Amino acid sequence: SASAFGLSFADRDVGGAAAAPIYNMNERLALTEQRRRLPIYAHRTQLLYLIEAHATTVVVGETGSGKTTQLPQYLHKAGWTGGGRMVACTQPRRVAAMTVAARVAEEMGCRLGQEVGYAIRFEDVSTPGVTRLRFCTDGVLLREMMQDPLLQKYSVIMVDEAHERSLATDVLLGLLKKVQRRRPDLRVIISSATIEAEAIASATIEAEAIARFFDTSNVRRPVGHVEALPAEGQPPSRSPALMSLEGRMHSVQVHYLETSTSNYLQSAVEAAVAIHKEDQPGDILIFLTGQDECEAAVKLLEEEGRRLQRSRLKWRLQPVALYAGLPASHQLAVFEPSPRGVRKVIAATNIAETSVTLEGIVYVIDSCFAKQRCYNPLTGLESLLIAPISKASAQQRAGRAGRVRPGHCFRLCSEDDYESKLPATTVPEMQRSDLAGTVLQLKSLGIDNIMSFEWLAPPPAETMVRALEMLHALGALDGDARLARPYGTQMAELPLDPPLARMLLASGEMGCTAEVLTVVAMLSVQSVWAPGGRRDVDDAKARFAVAEGDLISYLNVWKAWEESGRSKKWAITNYVMHRSLLRAADIRNQLQAHLRRLGIKPSSALEGASAFDQEALATVRKALAAGLFINAAKLTDELQVKLSDQDDSGASIYRLVRSAGGEAAAAKLRIHHSSVLFRCRPQWVCFYAAEQNDTGWYEMRDILAIESGWLTELAPHMYRLAPVNTQMRR
Ligand code: ADP
Ligand code: MG
Repeated sequence: SASAFGLSFADRDVGGAAAAPIYNMNERLALTEQRRRLPIYAHRTQLLYLIEAHATTVVVGETGSGKTTQLPQYLHKAGWTGGGRMVACTQPRRVAAMTVAARVAEEMGCRLGQEVGYAIRFEDVSTPGVTRLRFCTDGVLLREMMQDPLLQKYSVIMVDEAHERSLATDVLLGLLKKVQRRRPDLRVIISSATIEAEAIASATIEAEAIARFFDTSNVRRPVGHVEALPAEGQPPSRSPALMSLEGRMHSVQVHYLETSTSNYLQSAVEAAVAIHKEDQPGDILIFLTGQDECEAAVKLLEEEGRRLQRSRLKWRLQPVALYAGLPASHQLAVFEPSPRGVRKVIAATNIAETSVTLEGIVYVIDSCFAKQRCYNPLTGLESLLIAPISKASAQQRAGRAGRVRPGHCFRLCSEDDYESKLPATTVPEMQRSDLAGTVLQLKSLGIDNIMSFEWLAPPPAETMVRALEMLHALGALDGDARLARPYGTQMAELPLDPPLARMLLASGEMGCTAEVLTVVAMLSVQSVWAPGGRRDVDDAKARFAVAEGDLISYLNVWKAWEESGRSKKWAITNYVMHRSLLRAADIRNQLQAHLRRLGIKPSSALEGASAFDQEALATVRKALAAGLFINAAKLTDELQVKLSDQDDSGASIYRLVRSAGGEAAAAKLRIHHSSVLFRCRPQWVCFYAAEQNDTGWYEMRDILAIESGWLTELAPHMYRLAPVNTQMRR
């Protein structure tokens, strides 16, 4: 009907699997019983057989079928974790690695960090010699390969969520193929999610492409060919196996708007309220594009909830947000089942698309948008734009509604727009990312000819060239694009972006490791300031703000927090995120240990120096600039355009200093409103991050004010003083 739930949605039943609902999660089944009822359970013997017989097995099955939580346990039981070896299961997202590990530990009845552990960057909750199943981010496993290139600790690597095609997953797949040539005993499992017939078809094509990629046998056999078990001591077949788990999804009815909305946030809230008023059981999951939107939706829904309090509905509305920047403890709370009498409405980013299991969702409201990061090798800058998701993503999102019972998915666009404006699939991250860090890692793994590396999807040539140029400018590569000593090898060893790694090394030479460690640690946490926008937060921020910019302001925050005895109360009264600071402190310790290992002595420029010692401060700023000089920008006197009545300062135009012309020269930069320099506009700056947003501007964040002379001093290979005659011509 056109008026489902009082909304004007045009309906279309996309149908689900024909199988009748096998179980109802509302019944509290014992964990073991629950596990037996998962679709994967019936396939476990065959799966174990395939894994034994084939070096690579590709498993396709919809979200919730048990791939992530069950397969590692089957492998454990079948003896793959014997002889001190481990099974690794990689996830593109940190939160997934953590929650999945917690769930598996619960199912196995052990403490997290013992037999079952997880590892994300800067946080390893596993015990060497004890942990058998290790869930980690794909990035962490990549980094492990630098110590242990053949991954000798592992008998099986399960690359999970391969359909997401994250940058690290793609690199990992390329490397694993190489490792398998040297280690025929290593088993690789690649798993990928699907829902609905259409998506299964496209996922199977993807899976077959991956399977073909892994085919290192010289004999051509069709995918799906099953090998005999290898004889004792013999390696498995090098032709991959492909296994599809048939699903047991409930049907999901998809509804579209009659006409696309211009304000999907508002429409999403309205849809949620309308569903709630129907008074039928089931939690609601809303897909939005970012943290701000999720928080805004929660606020609006809380108001609505208060308004509805007297309306005698069976359930009370309980809105919660779910996004990657959310502190881990809050994230875990989202996964708790709703208490009796409560209807959870989860406002989430695409983090909830496939990688985590949310129980009890019956309704999905999909904005059909997501933030998409895209790297432009011509400017060397990124954009983060809100863009329509792919149809494959939309189908995954809809599937979240059909886990418990038949569900509903409300797409906040018209069916015509859905068909015509959404691309079929998402471009792999590999093809829209800055690859400097990746190239550095590959080089340090001894892969010198990056161009001929076996990429699952080759990145654009311009991006490769730019990555090589940037690494060369930072001193990580020599003139022949080989890893340079000592910077290249040392930078590769640090678990940081190349610019941050470079500034740490510079701090060792300049005598200010203490300060630069603090800045780098602060840049490695999500956010130091309490969510902004409010006057009191801005005022608090202003107390730490200095004209030298955000990076130096971070130093002030750190110092004051340390002087308070790392007091939580201090953090709260100053609108600083205590949790972020604690994490920064932990990261700082770890980085300090890295520096010690590299033989870099601790030093401090500001300790004991007077607060007015500009020279000491300049030392710190120069060390920071030694990592950031590529991103140097100069204030122009170009006409300042007033963007709106509220906007009195944002339109000062900066231009990249390095650009000789072309697209990079055309990029217009301005200072992001969250920067302490928003109203200051120094002549010369370096920035850690700049993103193009929907207004078309590149907005700089985490800014350091510099003196122009430093550029020629720190990077004479990149910047030269302008010839006198051009300076005279004015
Ligand atoms: P897949 O990886 O195939 O998407 P999972 O192994 O993540 O599937 O999940 C299998 C099942 O385990 C889910 O259907 C759900 O019932 C249960 N499950 C997984 N994670 C959790 C969790 N954190 N809390 C409760 N149940 C969970
Ligand atoms: Mg999974």
